[in-house]
Amino acid sequence: MTGKTVVVTGGASGIGRATSHMLARDGARVAIIDLRDEDIAVVLDELRALGAEAFGVSADVSDATAVQRAAERIFADVGEVHALVACAGTSASSPAADHSVEDWNRVMGVNLFGSFICCQIFGRPMIARGEGSIVVIGSLDGISAHAGRIAYSTSKFAVHGMVKNLALEWGRHNVRVNCVAPTIIDTPLVRRGLPDYFFNVVTDRTPAGRIGEPDDVAHAVLVLLGGASSFLSGVILPVDGGLTTGFFNRLSGADLQSKKLLEAGVYQP
Ligand code: NAP
Repeated sequence: MTGKTVVVTGGASGIGRATSHMLARDGARVAIIDLRDEDIAVVLDELRALGAEAFGVSADVSDATAVQRAAERIFADVGEVHALVACAGTSASSPAADHSVEDWNRVMGVNLFGSFICCQIFGRPMIARGEGSIVVIGSLDGISAHAGRIAYSTSKFAVHGMVKNLALEWGRHNVRVNCVAPTIIDTPLVRRGLPDYFFNVVTDRTPAGRIGEPDDVAHAVLVLLGGASSFLSGVILPVDGGLTTGFFNRLSGADLQSKKLLEAGVYQP
């Protein structure tokens, strides 16, 4: 990504932050859009310490006017934007029957509309230039449903559909649009939203024997973003340690890690 300018939404935390770091180490200029100036400032310092040029603007991605304003500032600061990582996301946990309208609209607004409006605003100049690459962060919850997270899961199914539509429309302009669909990744978002036992359940169902780290996703994002994947578009790439490959349960095998977890009372199905 040397010499490329990449906008990362949600770049101040979790997967977006890890992706920003990796892009910086790879020689890119990074422009972050996130909610809070103070969080952005911390990551900009980290990126500059890595030797990268780094910029940041605070904006709520569910607000089209705010994203347009942020984009204008970024274009003024950095000129052309070569690539976008649409990573900003939010979540809500609730039984479907009790899900509040406010949470539904918030999750859809950030995850679906926010991803779309960022793709549109940063995609237009890519179309005009005849070159660009976009990676949107989807989720395994957009491939198979997740009970108790109906708005989140529905938003990610829709994000995957959006990616395929954009890839179809923009391919002839040499703008590729791809998506990574991560399993549980150890970030502040999931630590806030999911109970501890859930991590053990996912670990037991995952051939790789662990949940994901933000760097696991960042690596996949960089592959899809860069020239090594120049003939890939509309891809929804699971980043899941093999979780969605088929049925797998460590407790049915001779796996010592699971037995240890069980014996220690850590595993609580
Ligand atoms: P995270 O650590 O909470 O990072 C998300 C960042 O986006 C935060 O800095 C957050 O700010 C920001 N953000 C939230 N709403 C925003 C808005 N309206 N406008 C601008 N920025 C906003 O979460 P993460 O786990 O890295 O998640 C990143 C993406 O990966 C999300 O799209 C998520 O759905 C997806 N994903 C995550 C996992 C996982 O297990 N972690 C799995 C699959 C997919 P605040 O902290 O201030 O809210």
